[in-house]
Amino acid sequence: MTQLVRSRAELAAARVRSSGVAGVVMTMGALHDGHRELIRVARDRCELTIVTVFLNPLQFGAGEDLSRYPKTLESDLALCTAENVDIVFAPTVSEVYPESEPQVRVSAGPLGDVLEGASRPGHFDGVLTVVAKLLHLTGAGVAYFGQKDAQQLLLIRRMVKDLDFPCEVVAVPTVRDPDGLALSSRNGYLSAEDRTVALALSRALRAGAAAAPEGPAAVRRVTADVLRDQSGVDVDYLVLADPVNLHDVPEDFAGAALLAVAARVGTTRLIDNLVVTLGGR
Ligand code: AMP
Repeated sequence: MTQLVRSRAELAAARVRSSGVAGVVMTMGALHDGHRELIRVARDRCELTIVTVFLNPLQFGAGEDLSRYPKTLESDLALCTAENVDIVFAPTVSEVYPESEPQVRVSAGPLGDVLEGASRPGHFDGVLTVVAKLLHLTGAGVAYFGQKDAQQLLLIRRMVKDLDFPCEVVAVPTVRDPDGLALSSRNGYLSAEDRTVALALSRALRAGAAAAPEGPAAVRRVTADVLRDQSGVDVDYLVLADPVNLHDVPEDFAGAALLAVAARVGTTRLIDNLVVTLGGR
């Protein structure tokens, strides 16, 4: 039976009644098969599965899509029930931030200022602050995050390591539609035409990855060419970066590199990435 809890007190009471290692999947709601995959991985590995549904205002900048972000708690609950989630924690903003905005926040540091952070100042401080709070409130021993948000995953790993959170972080591969589009709650903003245009992102990443044997310059060139050839894609950034420090990889780099893109299609900002294995020279 899935239990919906709305307050810290209800969550604490539900946790007292439960035992064993808890796995948490943190979401902003509007659940889709990407979230479902995280839940399934958590379910398989943990004695107790907790899903949080919280649209965190702290991680949205002025002019971003906080007000139009889809809110679908009823169907989110149905998905969680179908997946045998034990606890869904869906608090209000004032439950999470009782003193209004927190004065003290987690700082993402330099890794939070590049890529997504360059386009969305303060975004990762907001993400890490709520992730820290939700780890404390849920008491989870394992937290599951999607590779889809690669920089977020990296920063959460760093926070857990740098600040000694007693928690394991597990990455789950990106779930895609059969045509390649990475699932996202924001895909609902896309018109049918936009959606076709948006396929250029995953197509470009795949083409770039296929050029890996020719080295980083070729990967970047091929990926950029596919994106340029698709009208209607406004690229914010395209990088082939070291997944540890997010620095652009040099031509002789060997190992796994992160090929990541952010682009606007119509009014929707999309991100996607692939891990590319480079041979070095
Ligand atoms: P969100 O609700 O967008 O904040 O996402 C909640 C969690 O689901 C994050 O860890 C995301 O990285 C993950 N996620 C979102 N989309 C996907 C996807 N297509 N595949 C795998 N994980 C995803």
